[in-house]
Amino acid sequence: MRPERQGSHRANYERNKKRILATQNICGICGHPVDMSLKHGHPMAATIDHIIPVAKNGHPSDIENLQLAHWICNRQKSDKIFKTNKEKQPTVIGNRNLPQSMDWKTYRSG
Ligand SMILES: [Zn+2]
Repeated sequence: MRPERQGSHRANYERNKKRILATQNICGICGHPVDMSLKHGHPMAATIDHIIPVAKNGHPSDIENLQLAHWICNRQKSDKIFKTNKEKQPTVIGNRNLPQSMDWKTYRSG
């Protein structure tokens, strides 16, 4: 049996997801309770949110990077992240050209 990176992430993710669903009931994004009886597909149904999106180099399966969220909150969060990112292209270069991109890898380590 050859361990594949993606495969082990998926197993980890599933395990952590179950753990979160069993132990949490507050949306990590809006702070309101999540109704666990709502079915998948409902905007307020429970989903697992990556605190730092995988697309931003967040960990795909570490429980530290996962939280409970409403589906709609999760959706709005990712919309916001990608929209902001798109609009963030610097058009003005000043003589104090500070780095503008957030380093998501080190963001949470401080
Ligand atoms: Zn929410």
